Amino acid sequence: MAQQCCPSTHALYPGTFDPPTFGHLSIIKRGARLFDKLTVGVANLNGKDTLLAFEKRFELIKKLTSDMPNIEVISFSGLLVQCAESINAGIILRGLRTVSDFDYEYRMSTTNQIVLPGLETVFLMAEPEYGYISSTLVRQIASCNGDIARFVPELVLEALKEGK
Ligand code: ADP
Repeated sequence: MAQQCCPSTHALYPGTFDPPTFGHLSIIKRGARLFDKLTVGVANLNGKDTLLAFEKRFELIKKLTSDMPNIEVISFSGLLVQCAESINAGIILRGLRTVSDFDYEYRMSTTNQIVLPGLETVFLMAEPEYGYISSTLVRQIASCNGDIARFVPELVLEALKEGK
């Protein structure tokens, strides 16, 4: 019998990752299991103020995913749909924590569907132990020299100590 050919799935997981947290890593690991290829898009927000410079955020995501064979890390700026189209990703991957995430994500995914019909957004619910973690919270605690070891990997802790 002839083998059935399945189209491969390629998803784009975009984010600012300022800084990357265990919550982001959970989405990346689970996405890498679900899709044939997962591209992580690190936002280059040209000029916008971030705690960590783009180069640091990019390098951290690269190092944190270096043992995952089906992951590629790219930089992106501008429209997400254009980025997805340019790398031939038919799926956007996002994480969902709270109702307030849903509100924003609903508007973004609907707009993207209108701009690029056929581009699907897939949401993964946060894992119970990470659902409360956000980069904003980590930045706030770090700015007061609080302990963030339970929210971010060791590499990120070191990068935050070094500064921007
Ligand atoms: P943004 O893209 O809005 O700047 P982030 O870079 O922080 O936000 O997050 C990128 C994606 O990761 C978003 O879909 C966000 O909901 C998801 N995310 C962030 N933190 C977590 C977490 N703790 N658990 C699950 N998903 C998360």
